[in-house]
Amino acid sequence: MINIREYVIDLDISNGDSKRMNCPICNGYKTFTVTNNMGKVLWNCYKVTCSLSGSSKVRLYKKEKMIYLLYYLSMLCLIKIDGRQTPSALNGV
Ligand SMILES: [Zn+2]
Repeated sequence: MINIREYVIDLDISNGDSKRMNCPICNGYKTFTVTNNMGKVLWNCYKVTCSLSGSSKVRLYKKEKMIYLLYYLSMLCLIKIDGRQTPSALNGV
């Protein structure tokens, strides 16, 4: 029995990507899918007789972390700009 968690993490699927491949357990042809969703890797085999599925957290790569951080910061900025809108009555002061 292989360590499926290690196997999946070793596939090195980058964030947002997914892979469809032969199942390492039942050898089903392309029945095994792996998806990386924000550093959480989910795997599942579609073969009825094979109940292989699970999930594991993996570390985000530096680049992906930066993109996420930038996205997060830009969201914060948008909120800030919205909050800073001055009422029109103050414009004449
Ligand atoms: Zn399988």
